Amino acid sequence: FLALGVPITLGFTGIVGWILAGLAMQPVKLSYEQLQRFTADASHELRAPVAAILSNAQVGLLAPAEDRHQPRQRLENIVTQSKHISVLITNLLFLARHQGKLNPQDITKTDVVELLNSLANQYQVLAAEKGLDFQLNLPTTSQKTYGDRNMPTSYADRDLLQQAIHNLLDNAVKYTPSGGMVALTLEVKPRRILITVQDTGIGIPASDLPHIFDRFYRVDKARTRQTGGFGLGLAIAQQIIEAHNGKITVESKAGKGTKFQICLPLRSRSIVETRG
Ligand code: ADP
Repeated sequence: FLALGVPITLGFTGIVGWILAGLAMQPVKLSYEQLQRFTADASHELRAPVAAILSNAQVGLLAPAEDRHQPRQRLENIVTQSKHISVLITNLLFLARHQGKLNPQDITKTDVVELLNSLANQYQVLAAEKGLDFQLNLPTTSQKTYGDRNMPTSYADRDLLQQAIHNLLDNAVKYTPSGGMVALTLEVKPRRILITVQDTGIGIPASDLPHIFDRFYRVDKARTRQTGGFGLGLAIAQQIIEAHNGKITVESKAGKGTKFQICLPLRSRSIVETRG
């Protein structure tokens, strides 16, 4: 105890109190440490593009007058890096603002089939541009025959739900080489819906899987920096789905492909009552 810095003058109750206080402080300490790490990571991510902007601007200012035709490349670099910062700030603000909560005013009865159809329209084009096959698998029962009673609707913040699925589709297209396949599938169960985004891409090594939803986590920092990722897309998707009382899971095999699955309560008004 002395080695741990416990004063010898503490009696038995004092020692018990000291241990309990230590345990009680654990969550606070953990979240403080998480906050510290988050701030350090965010600053680290911002440092590189800011330095690039600064050096391009400084070199431009120092360039001799006859070198005036050169600044175009420097301006392009400044624009690229500024866009990079802008995306990062948008993502950081998103994580800070929502903090796992939904705004009750934004929760509506969302037609999931319509939502997936509209996302599929966008991604069919993006996938084709990259030489990928895109499949949309909806339940065999047509939208009409669900009738109003059994429509796969979920009480959700439609824009946020769209953002979460969008992040998964974005990754699937990004991490699948040409000639591969990306599939978006909806399954309707009695009390929940399952939305699956599956690809035949590069996959995620087993040792990285437990960290994949951590903020700023990237499997290959050097490679993903080139593709513009910050390692925030999955953290945002998870935050959104958990705010809807849902769950997001991943299965992957390096070199074979990846499957993300979102499980959402169907027609549950509980998120309206318990959240916000
Ligand atoms: P990023 O913006 O870097 O893609 P994410 O949070 O969306 O950040 O993803 C974190 C990391 O998980 C990525 O950097 C990538 O290494 C890995 N990853 C995510 N989705 C896939 C996928 N479908 N296939 C392979 N790797 C993926």
